[in-house]
Amino acid sequence: MTQHADVVVVGGGHNGLVAAAYLARAGLTTVVCERRDVVGGAAVSEHPFGPDYTVTSLSYVVSLMPPQLVRDLRLDQQGYHVYPQGPYFAPRADGRYLRLPDDPEQRHAEIAKFSTRDADAYPRYDRHLAELGEVLGPLLHQIPPRLGSRRPLELMRQARLLLQLRGVRERSAVDVVRLLTGSIADLLDGYFESDALLGLLSVSGVIGTWAGPRSAGTAYVMLHHHIGETAWGFPRGGMGAVSGALAGSARTFGAQIRTGAQVARIRTKDGRVTGVELASGESIDAPVVVTTAHPQISFLRLMDPAELPTGFVDDIRGWRTRSGTVKINLALDRLPVFSAYPDPDPSVYGGTIVLAESLDDIENAFQQAVAGKPAELPFADICIPSVFDDSLAPAGQHIMSMFTQWVPHTYADSPDEAELKAYADRVLARVEAVAPGFTSSVLHQQVIGPHQMQEEYGLVGGNIFHGELSLGQMFHARPAAGYADLRTPVRGLYQAGSATHGGGGVTGIPGRNVVRQILADRRTERWRRTGRSAKSAVTRG
Ligand SMILES: Cc1cc2nc3c(=O)[nH]c(=O)nc-3n(C[C@H](O)[C@H](O)[C@H](O)COP(=O)(O)OP(=O)(O)OC[C@H]3O[C@@H](n4cnc5c(N)ncnc54)[C@H](O)[C@@H]3O)c2cc1C
Repeated sequence: MTQHADVVVVGGGHNGLVAAAYLARAGLTTVVCERRDVVGGAAVSEHPFGPDYTVTSLSYVVSLMPPQLVRDLRLDQQGYHVYPQGPYFAPRADGRYLRLPDDPEQRHAEIAKFSTRDADAYPRYDRHLAELGEVLGPLLHQIPPRLGSRRPLELMRQARLLLQLRGVRERSAVDVVRLLTGSIADLLDGYFESDALLGLLSVSGVIGTWAGPRSAGTAYVMLHHHIGETAWGFPRGGMGAVSGALAGSARTFGAQIRTGAQVARIRTKDGRVTGVELASGESIDAPVVVTTAHPQISFLRLMDPAELPTGFVDDIRGWRTRSGTVKINLALDRLPVFSAYPDPDPSVYGGTIVLAESLDDIENAFQQAVAGKPAELPFADICIPSVFDDSLAPAGQHIMSMFTQWVPHTYADSPDEAELKAYADRVLARVEAVAPGFTSSVLHQQVIGPHQMQEEYGLVGGNIFHGELSLGQMFHARPAAGYADLRTPVRGLYQAGSATHGGGGVTGIPGRNVVRQILADRRTERWRRTGRSAKSAVTRG
């Protein structure tokens, strides 16, 4: 049986769903093919502990998705609701804690408990980040020009980028270069001295990254997490509810979303895409295909690399996609009580609880993983979304989401299950050390390591962003030279997963931008065709 569509979207992760919604809204017959039985990809809510519990399996907080996208796709009509996340809380083994409340005076007092110099420096650091965000934030939303291309249209786009950068001050230009090439340790060392603050702030430089806080490039990873247009928050129903809202919106606009529909092959003929073939043997014909799967799946498995230019294939083969992340999800029969802060303060339970005592601890954890051993003292970025969201667990019980690092990145291919379990036990022991009695509150536990991320969720190498956010893999280099504009070497085949610019996180930006590109290309093609037929009419006349 052969189905026909204007566009097939490979992958029903959030980017595939965003693309489908915008495509259908533009009037194109759109079919999404998702391999798993549930949509969402890495933005998914599941029920590993039974129907009474909803677990945000992988990603857990939103901020990077543009508010305009939420409005365009009318996500509020699909139950999209975000509870703002509370401030950081970092309990320490010595019984102290560091908090970073939003109120500047309170924050100053909290930091001053560790260092008055740090407390005084924090507003400067915050301003510095805001200035960097003003330069880099808008670039995240753009389709990068093909730097180096000499085609007139591309030269115009490069010139437009230069014009846009004209407003950047000399100071900011230097700061941006330092940020992109420096480490989070370099950046923080310029402001702070206390272990407590250095440990807490360096976490966002290494989240999802195969790099320690002293590695070049980690300063940008931190900024990437700070350039969303809204504050971080927990979506009601977990991240799967974001994908559910996107799917609902796409369906309302007329898209068809098929789950359990694994694409086995992206079909091409004479350098043009012609559709896809499913693992079931079914074919879907379409002149346009958008793939949102990891690029090594899209271009090395779903296609014969021999159909693609060697340089492109080399870039995709050489794509760095490691991270050594382990996600641990728990169901608890009660909230933990922190010895350092036993008050049942909603801003503590509703914030991000960070276990990271110093930057050195984090660097050591990374170096141990580099040497082939899971970290002795893994860091953890923890939240308890059920504090706000009563849909996640039975009354009085809670869901805890723990983002932790590192195990060796080689666990993606050859996991050591016993070591992985011991690693997870060490994470729980860290919580027990600051909240005695915690382990006895654990009702259910799920540990998702790099192997499961790769095999079950399609995150090749276990990288949470489909590819490292390092300088060599950003902007015009994401994911291959000459193809950061979301096109591919095959006409009609586009890419829009997290390995493209704007991706890395639940941003929806690649999914939105690819539709802009497709519609622009369709207009150009129509214009060319009209031009050609007008010319031949004149010749005939
Ligand atoms: C542990 C973890 C924590 C994270 N935390 C956060 C967070 O808190 N906030 C945040 O913003 N980001 C977070 N991220 C990153 C974010 O979740 C991802 O960058 C984003 O969800 C990727 O979306 P995507 O649509 O590009 O790709 P994916 O979500 O990976 O979707 C691709 C889809 O393609 C499907 N697919 C693959 N092959 C085929 C095939 N052959 N046929 C059909 N379908 C196929 C896959 O099953 C998948 O559903 C986290 C990621 C992880 C892993």
